[in-house]
Amino acid sequence: MGNTKRNDKYDSQMRIGKLKTLLTAALVACLSWTAAARAATCPRAGVLGTSRVLTVDPAATPRVGLKQFPQTLPLSDHEVVLTFDDGPSPAATPKVLAALAAQCVRATFFMVGKPAQEHPTMVRRIAAAGHSIGHHTWSHASLSHLTPDQATAEIDRGIEAVEMALHGTATNVRSTPFFRFPNFDSTPAILDLLQSRGILVFGADFWADDWRLMTPRRQLKLITARLKAAGRGIILFHDPRAQTAAMLPAFLRYLRDNHYRVVHVVSAASAAHSEGEPAEPKSTAELKH
Ligand SMILES: [Zn+2]
Repeated sequence: MGNTKRNDKYDSQMRIGKLKTLLTAALVACLSWTAAARAATCPRAGVLGTSRVLTVDPAATPRVGLKQFPQTLPLSDHEVVLTFDDGPSPAATPKVLAALAAQCVRATFFMVGKPAQEHPTMVRRIAAAGHSIGHHTWSHASLSHLTPDQATAEIDRGIEAVEMALHGTATNVRSTPFFRFPNFDSTPAILDLLQSRGILVFGADFWADDWRLMTPRRQLKLITARLKAAGRGIILFHDPRAQTAAMLPAFLRYLRDNHYRVVHVVSAASAAHSEGEPAEPKSTAELKH
């Protein structure tokens, strides 16, 4: 009996040992793959990197963000999508771009038409760094306060300004079919309009309250606590905010050190476009239907 027990114990220790070896091998393989994937897109070691590209089709996923809608992007635990609203700003946006570039991270910028028209080189710089481009109206108007025609004009003029800065023409919205309502102020009619145009509406899963004045240190504490609680999600920041630009390098280091992974969201149309299929131009008049 004694021997059998010892043998059973020995067998079970052997099995545990083998299991540990297998798990370690799998973990090493997984980490190597992740490191290889990051190395392929980033020239520096030891940085956060962009872990994967998530291609979304607005026809299948018209709205995302749990603060506003019932569904969000299909993210795994510890995956985040970084988004920046209200730019471009010649003062703060370059600092945000530098922080993202230092960690080889790609984000999405929801730009306001008026500053985009005033600073077209900033718009092109954001796009040239590989970030996704989204729209945020012409003048950051709260659209539910406007007539339907005025709201449509705000959206169209904003898109046209960003597209003009990017392409020298206002007719290529297929390459940037992301939109976020200023102040998350949507109406069912405008949501339907955007969906009918194949434009994906982003809400957010959580945010840093960076429209409120606070120190970068306090903002970092707030956003990391919210991230820890949520575990994953679309994070909203504002690139024209100096406090956000100042906080961002420390936040990206926090993500790296705590094993979070950054997901870069692109539209199916822009992915096809970058692979060489030209996005079909649509006239502004066509877009208004
Ligand atoms: Zn905004």
